[in-house]
Amino acid sequence: MNQDFNADRAELVRQLRLEIKDEKVISAMERVPRELFLPPDTQHLAYENMPLPIAEGQTISQPFIVALMTEALDLRGEERVLEVGTGSGYQTAILAELAGWVVSVERRQRLLESASRTLGRLGYTNIELHPAQETLGWPEGAPYDGIIVTAGAPKTPPGLIDQLAEGGKLVIPVGSRYEQKLLRIIKRKDQISTENLGGCRFVPLIAREAWAD
Ligand code: SAH
Repeated sequence: MNQDFNADRAELVRQLRLEIKDEKVISAMERVPRELFLPPDTQHLAYENMPLPIAEGQTISQPFIVALMTEALDLRGEERVLEVGTGSGYQTAILAELAGWVVSVERRQRLLESASRTLGRLGYTNIELHPAQETLGWPEGAPYDGIIVTAGAPKTPPGLIDQLAEGGKLVIPVGSRYEQKLLRIIKRKDQISTENLGGCRFVPLIAREAWAD
């Protein structure tokens, strides 16, 4: 198929601009080729504003949600960011465009390997990928200025708040196994503030502090 991905990408970005005001996030979405993070049979849908299936019954997030979650971290370029749930690696790439260093953890080895190949091929040198361990997140790399969880949790896991730096932001879908509210949690001194960014639907976060497998 001879598809003009550039035209499709430009149309998606036009739609995103209606709701996403951070131009740095918009231009990262313009730079990262989402089709490369998809299996061949769905690549033609890469710039539809929808989540799509990837391997292992998981999903690549909807571009609008990727942009919204990234915007919520308010990145300036120097930050250390943790992503929980690498999946395809697309959100990882968007973060790597905008932060200083990105650590991403994934519990499915096959996804981790395929994300690693795609991100390597695109030439990123500020990403560290790890297999998920029993403790949620990646405490060895803490503290983080931002944490993005790309799977839904029943409640905010205290272990992730612990991995946030002072003033750090955690963006996480919290709710039932099937629908969640996207929360932004900011850690200041010993105070935690929580904002609801809207409804969303993610695959479950599988962990001792979240859902059972
Ligand atoms: N950001 C990804 C989203 C993938 S779906 C993308 O846009 O492609 C969420 C991912 O979270 C799945 O790949 C799932 O395997 C992973 N996941 C679930 N629980 C996890 C945990 N405790 N630690 C790390 N990854 C987890």
